[in-house]
Amino acid sequence: MKLKGTGASPGIAIGPAQILESGKAKTVKRRISRRDIVSEQERFIQAVSTAEAEISAILEDIPEELKEHSGVLKSHLMMLKDRMVFERTLETIKKDQINAEWALDKAVQHIHSLFAQVKDRYIRERMEDIEYVVKRVQALLSHSTEALNLQELEEPCVIVAHELSPADTVQMFKQNILAFVTVTGSRTSHTAILARALGIPAVVGVEHGIDSISQDDTLIVDGLTGDILVSPDEQTITKYREKQQSYIRYRLEVIHNSSLPAETRDGYRVKIKANMELLDEIPSAISHGAEGVGLFRTEFLYLASKELPSEETLYNAYREVIERLSPYPVTIRTLDIGGDKFVSSVSLDDEINPALGLRAIRLCLKEKGLFWDQLRAILRASAHGEVRMLFPLVSGRTEIMQVKALLEQVKEELRDSNVPFDENMKLGIMIEVPSAVMVADILAREVDFFSIGTNDLIQYALAIDRINESVAHMYQPLHPGVIRMIHSTVTAAHNAGIEAAMCGEMAGEPIYAPILLGMGIDEFSMNAMVIPKVKRIIRRCVYDDCVQLVQRILEASSGSEIRYLLDEFLRANCPEEFEPADARYPEFAETGSPLLN
Ligand code: PEP
Ligand code: MG
Repeated sequence: MKLKGTGASPGIAIGPAQILESGKAKTVKRRISRRDIVSEQERFIQAVSTAEAEISAILEDIPEELKEHSGVLKSHLMMLKDRMVFERTLETIKKDQINAEWALDKAVQHIHSLFAQVKDRYIRERMEDIEYVVKRVQALLSHSTEALNLQELEEPCVIVAHELSPADTVQMFKQNILAFVTVTGSRTSHTAILARALGIPAVVGVEHGIDSISQDDTLIVDGLTGDILVSPDEQTITKYREKQQSYIRYRLEVIHNSSLPAETRDGYRVKIKANMELLDEIPSAISHGAEGVGLFRTEFLYLASKELPSEETLYNAYREVIERLSPYPVTIRTLDIGGDKFVSSVSLDDEINPALGLRAIRLCLKEKGLFWDQLRAILRASAHGEVRMLFPLVSGRTEIMQVKALLEQVKEELRDSNVPFDENMKLGIMIEVPSAVMVADILAREVDFFSIGTNDLIQYALAIDRINESVAHMYQPLHPGVIRMIHSTVTAAHNAGIEAAMCGEMAGEPIYAPILLGMGIDEFSMNAMVIPKVKRIIRRCVYDDCVQLVQRILEASSGSEIRYLLDEFLRANCPEEFEPADARYPEFAETGSPLLN
């Protein structure tokens, strides 16, 4: 029998199932009398402190290799005392005269209803964090023994659970755990991030059929494709053992190659950096061979809390990234909220066209107090390593001049109080609005570098809402209009003697690398996981051939003609990239053939 989920951590494991029944508890609902209110509240407080003590104990024991992930557990500790959970439960016990389990359940339902409309991935994941914490407290309240006790596993096994919390996952480090399979979770949930950090294959989001797995059934877990085979025959096991070996060889090759420079066969070199948003992503950036961070999205600290983060909080986070990446540079992008990114600490009016509304730099120039704190925090952090500052959604010169004037005032204030910062910090703008492309020659005189944000540039150039599924098929990076815009941006940058980087998703699509190389993109910044693949393609190319390819595609009249020319080039230069999905590069199996994008 074959089940299907999402491959959340690559690798293949074969072993017996160990079923964990966590997450299936039903909340006991009970009305209480007025005189029991205080004791019920105390029972809740007691369960919360026990949960706190448990998480703190796990935190203390966390192995050195996983220290950088302790932030997740620390945030769980904070959530235990979050007003919306903790105080609301206490109030509900009193107001509704109900037991603690029920009141806690209600508090969580309330948070769900508040966030139900929010599509933002970060908020959805924080919701998952709240649920983990709540489950722990619920289990304690009902004296359930459901909390996992991973210390007792003696045989190597595959964990099968409804859900695993990051605290459960961290404990897997020293255990005989070959893989895990869960009903809930996504590739970007913290549990999945931890599984990847631990190198444990994982399949999450297995919505159907998990109940048909019995204790000790033999399982094959393919964390690359998301397949789970239950009680497979010998022949299948042999086939997967071979795949397991070939994956191990592949990883060794990737790790070996990821530290090689991104240099073409004729010696033309570009920089490859990582895009990141969470501090958890730093180890992955380093291990995948990033030469710094080309786009540090700074929205997460604003999304994480109800209040605006203080300058100190921002400074500490930026400083941590800079110090951990040193001596590599970090490009910090100033706040890009508005549009589809909702932040509870900044009240925004409803807009008919949020993507065309008060977003990014426009919002920051309006809410100067908020911007001021962030600029101070970035400048102060620049004293601890190489930082470049990047401004999003610039549409013309006036905005740059306003930003520069404000930045000068912030610098003046820091100088006056003898606060150190890098006086020569480089300034850049994202090129993601068509008007910025048209005046790129003018803008290039005002800044030290450009970074092309293709996610937005394509949306605005082709009038395709990037989050609207019904027009997603028209979102074409190879549209001649887009290709020409990228080309003229790079040309304007180079004519002015500044660098042109690209940090939109297009930079991280391995097959586009020859075009971007040929256009002269100096720096590619992308999701760390794809760095080895992009490097591999670059190392197969000859720069002059890429320049010729670009000359031809600039003459092409349609996206499909460009695609044809590109395929021809790839077939001649990187034929192995055309092999079936998991023959040579099993990771391609996640998205299908590398050429189907
Ligand atoms: C982009 O628009 O390409 C970009 C990198 O910014 P974001 O995806 O954060 O809008
Ligand atoms: Mg953008």
